[in-house]
Amino acid sequence: MAYTVPKLDDYSPAALDRAIADLRSALEHEVAAVKSDADHEALRIRWRARTNGILTQINDLWLKAAPKEAKRDVGQRVNELKTWVEEKVESAKPGTASASVADKLDITLPGIRRPLGAEHPVVKTTNEIIGIFAKMGYSVETGPEIETDYYNFESMNFPPNHPARDTQDTIFIAGQESKPQRDRLLLRTHTSPVQTRAMEKHRPPIRVVAPGKVHRSDTPDASHSPIFHQVEGLAVDNNITFSDLKGTLDHAMKELFGSDVKTRFFPSFFPFTEPSADVQVTCFKCGGKGCRLCKMSGWIELLGSGMVDPKVLAFHKDNGYDPEKVSGFAFGMGVERIAMLKYGIDDIQLFFHGDVRFLEQFA
Ligand SMILES: [Zn+2]
Repeated sequence: MAYTVPKLDDYSPAALDRAIADLRSALEHEVAAVKSDADHEALRIRWRARTNGILTQINDLWLKAAPKEAKRDVGQRVNELKTWVEEKVESAKPGTASASVADKLDITLPGIRRPLGAEHPVVKTTNEIIGIFAKMGYSVETGPEIETDYYNFESMNFPPNHPARDTQDTIFIAGQESKPQRDRLLLRTHTSPVQTRAMEKHRPPIRVVAPGKVHRSDTPDASHSPIFHQVEGLAVDNNITFSDLKGTLDHAMKELFGSDVKTRFFPSFFPFTEPSADVQVTCFKCGGKGCRLCKMSGWIELLGSGMVDPKVLAFHKDNGYDPEKVSGFAFGMGVERIAMLKYGIDDIQLFFHGDVRFLEQFA
């Protein structure tokens, strides 16, 4: 039913409000139905024509017919209503809204530049290391940064009060004294506890790398940071020997630093490996001749490694890690140290300052 202007016999404010609301909703509906210029012209004539348009009818039927005492109020309302109707009818013209946006749009303004993000050098180096081992069949394991004493130390063959614990500069969580020592919480000092978690989860054979953040109570300087990253590796199977360890790490270092580098293994000590070895690579800056980077030695020490200590395997004897039947090797490397050598960065703090001028060099 098309809207027609009613005659009013009640000029109370409430009745006027009702009549105006009806008219407004009628126009809203008609505006919504306008699809073409012809529709719009019909709408314009129906509402705004001088002869018998709806606005003219309102003037005649509402304002002129109003009793003297209501004229002032009705006049004010009709004026407001007229302005609203005129604007409403005008803006109903198809294309009006988009045309006005186009008028305001300055297509000569420069666009909004959205800088591309890039991997942080520590993340980039971590992923590179993982990628090298993934190609050799290693999968990725992770573990929590807040660990228990058991995972971080005991299961890695650091018995309570063992002096090797002192080398780890551990940050302990406060208020743990009431718990047995093996349950006390600390911030993990190395990614080695992930070895324990992996051996609890999977039966041998196993080949995993464990990347992650570790914590030591070190004072920050150019080569120390209380937070840094490691990638741990573990391989356990039948008949794994030290030759497998040497071959695997020699290949990994060549992948990481180029096929020219040579590796050598020096006796070392870690509680969780026996025998243990430090791995050195020929200096990739001077090629072994001697320079400042390698302190004139021609060699750079890069990671720790060794055959998994039978005592570490024995913690998981029930899950297939019988030291009489299986053997394995483990290794660990500092991600920041490798990134610093690879990219010639001389201050470890640069990794943690979040300075875009430093970071964008790796984009
Ligand atoms: Zn050198």
